[in-house]
Amino acid sequence: MAQPTHRFILKWSKMIAPMVLHLAFTREDNLAIPFKAGQFITLHIEGPQKILHRSYSLANAPHQEDNVIEISCAKVEGGIASSLLFGMQPGDSLFASGPYGLFVLKEEHPARYILVATGTGVTPYRSMLGEIKQRLEDLQQKLEVILILGVRHSNELLFKEEFLDFAKKNPRFKFYACYSQEKKAQLEHFERLGHVQDTFTDLNLNVEQDIVYLCGNPNMIDSTFALLTSLGFDRKNIRREKYLFSH
Ligand SMILES: Cc1cc2nc3c(=O)[nH]c(=O)nc-3n(C[C@H](O)[C@H](O)[C@H](O)COP(=O)(O)OP(=O)(O)OC[C@H]3O[C@@H](n4cnc5c(N)ncnc54)[C@H](O)[C@@H]3O)c2cc1C
Repeated sequence: MAQPTHRFILKWSKMIAPMVLHLAFTREDNLAIPFKAGQFITLHIEGPQKILHRSYSLANAPHQEDNVIEISCAKVEGGIASSLLFGMQPGDSLFASGPYGLFVLKEEHPARYILVATGTGVTPYRSMLGEIKQRLEDLQQKLEVILILGVRHSNELLFKEEFLDFAKKNPRFKFYACYSQEKKAQLEHFERLGHVQDTFTDLNLNVEQDIVYLCGNPNMIDSTFALLTSLGFDRKNIRREKYLFSH
């Protein structure tokens, strides 16, 4: 469903990996943007002939008192939206609408959530941490949550300290980082070499009781979806948010 478009002002931005910029915006009228963890906003960018649309997952928890929304943008060489975002200074503005999307945690009680991402696809899960904490603390549920983040090299890992700290405080939450092109020999306890799917061998997947979320690179999502369905997962227990490019 279409949502109204608002002007958003950049409050601050900072690089959080060599090619990833994290940005915080407020609406020009400073009103809250009600959203659910896992949803995204769509930027409306004036192109030469038409308005172009580019979507970005909301990266912070909903209901922040300062009404800020955060996104993380990966640099795309020659990319229209990413160049615009990387060139913004605090006080600059853009137009966006939202929130959109159904990639949210549902009212359900699985034994385990397996949250899989590549790159900036981890931002919806960062947004979900507060909700995950509440569910982990509900002892009736006995929920476990596994977060698997795939990047090429260890220096591209996003929000590493936040996820490790969350795992430390919440023993039924586990965080794995997978490096597809890293050569380092000494790995820490949460680090793995390979693709995100390679971590599944350590997890003893349960097709009846696990629910898997996949977010980010469309190729990763398609191959992981094919793998999970071949193992016997029901499609309804695999939730997908593909970061498709616009054509
Ligand atoms: C629901 C949804 C949520 C999304 N959330 C995020 C998010 O949180 N963070 C984020 O960074 N992106 C996200 N994306 C992708 C984002 O919307 C843009 O597609 C991306 O930032 C590139 O836009 P651009 O205008 O900079 O590049 P464009 O001007 O669209 O593309 C320029 C050229 O680069 C190619 N290209 C575009 N993207 C890539 C890429 N990733 N890798 C290689 N080549 C590419 C294009 O085919 C084109 O040739 C999301 C997409 C969707 C659909």
